[in-house]
Amino acid sequence: MPREIQIQVAPEVAAQLPLLTAHIAQLMQVKPDEIKHIAIIKRSIDARQKAVKINLKVAVYWNEEYVETKFKLPEYKDVSNAQEVIIIGAGPAGLFAALQLIELGVKPIVLERGKDVQERRRDLKAINRDHIVDEDSNYCYGEGGAGTYSDGKLYTRSKKRGDVDRILELFVAFGASDEILVEAHPHIGTNKLPKIIKAMREKIIEYGGQVLFETRVTDILVKNNEVQGVVTQNNDTIHASKIILATGHSARDIFELLDRKKIFIEAKPFALGVRAEHPQSLIDTIQYSCDYRGEYLPPAPYSIVKQVAGRGMYSFCMCPGGVIAPCATSPGEVVTNGWSPSKRDQETANSGIVVELKLEDFKPFEKFGALAGMEFQKSIEQQAWHLAGETQRVPAQRMIDFTQSKVSSDIPKTSYVPGTTPVELGKVFPDFITNTLRQGFVEFGKSMRGYLTNEAILHAPESRTSSPVRIPRDNYSLEHLEIKGLYPCGEGAGYAGGIISAAIDGEKCALKCVETLS
Ligand code: FAD
Repeated sequence: MPREIQIQVAPEVAAQLPLLTAHIAQLMQVKPDEIKHIAIIKRSIDARQKAVKINLKVAVYWNEEYVETKFKLPEYKDVSNAQEVIIIGAGPAGLFAALQLIELGVKPIVLERGKDVQERRRDLKAINRDHIVDEDSNYCYGEGGAGTYSDGKLYTRSKKRGDVDRILELFVAFGASDEILVEAHPHIGTNKLPKIIKAMREKIIEYGGQVLFETRVTDILVKNNEVQGVVTQNNDTIHASKIILATGHSARDIFELLDRKKIFIEAKPFALGVRAEHPQSLIDTIQYSCDYRGEYLPPAPYSIVKQVAGRGMYSFCMCPGGVIAPCATSPGEVVTNGWSPSKRDQETANSGIVVELKLEDFKPFEKFGALAGMEFQKSIEQQAWHLAGETQRVPAQRMIDFTQSKVSSDIPKTSYVPGTTPVELGKVFPDFITNTLRQGFVEFGKSMRGYLTNEAILHAPESRTSSPVRIPRDNYSLEHLEIKGLYPCGEGAGYAGGIISAAIDGEKCALKCVETLS
């Protein structure tokens, strides 16, 4: 049996095998060459002390050979002639649902409004360079959903470790580095995700599933409170008695469709704010208490939560060494989010800094009923578009200027490619959000010395944090509360937040679907 030990070492020891071997050999009182292999089981960074340390849980093979674990794909079945389930949306929820169906011998028909990962790239260029937003293909829509051109952070608050491990192992089997199984805060990166997503699609097709791109669902057919199928943008009808609805948090036309058809949905609180960009070196200095992080530590992340004036204010989807992306899904709006390449080697660190909203905040929009939160969100995104000059330029302000309600006299070039327009960001938001953010940044500056600085540039808004609508489902059957055969799934339905939890929810919905197929 290998011996499992927990150690804390300097970053340069953790990064260099001969040093690590020597360290462990000394601890175990054996010679370094007696150690045949060291397998890292878990790795995390402890930056609480002045000298940053790396926590490692390792398995030391010293009296037996190490056999590498290869993560294999599950035994998929040929489903070409099997019963069919429609999946709307090829985000993590939809793709993992499709793979789970194939494992269970059921044929998924995945309908995706956007394009495949390769084609999608052109449309991302068009937003960044020409300010053109394609309503079906953008940072949120297209193969792999909102998760494809993201940081690919793979952590979640899910308590069920087994579910998380299964999703991570599937990512590895589809081509992700097995480092994601070891890191306390794993991530994949925008440059690597498209290949993995493509491999998933190819596997679905290889086993007889279907994946149809540029196929936007425009209607869900319901008779006697049971689903019958869907209508697509070309007026084609596809029949099925089971539909997994995994359209993500930005699919406003789907929320409007459900509302129009009087299929029960409800407004859901979410969070909204700005995306802050600091020099990465400054965040490193704050987090690692050093002038220069050196070659063995990764660009530092941060995570911060405060209660400010009775509301939670927190960092969201922090991207070390990353880029701020234009994430609008319609012309006439501006939306920010962030991504990083796998090496996180860009010079800036960005993070959403958002304020928790409550249902009563949507009161001015109450005439929209269940869509009140969505209309509130839309109004802010449209206001930002208007204030920044009606292109994909984003309203921006230096952080201290924002806390002092002062338009910044200049904004340096930021990672947001379409460009910035100096705007007093108080004009983008209702006062309660502005005031919370202003006070909150001062509080953040007290906890993270150096964080409150005019070197930091705020971009507004960060508005797509989670769905503004819940599509309620039964806790046990996972079917919509009123419509049989409809499985609201993933982030758009309000049952996930992030890639991993969306993927877990996709698998859960697929399992439930199959349980009741006749
Ligand atoms: P989505 O990924 O939103 O997928 C929904 C899919 O449905 C889309 O492909 C869409 O085109 C399709 N669709 C919508 N309407 C229709 C229709 N009518 N007909 C057919 N298809 C339709 N999460 C993390 O965990 N880590 C990160 O690092 C991270 N970074 C992010 C960075 C960016 C830039 C963005 C935008 C998001 C990021 N997220 C991240 C969030 C994460 O991507 C989402 O939580 C996750 O993708 C949700 O999965 P989903 O399958 O529920 O929905």
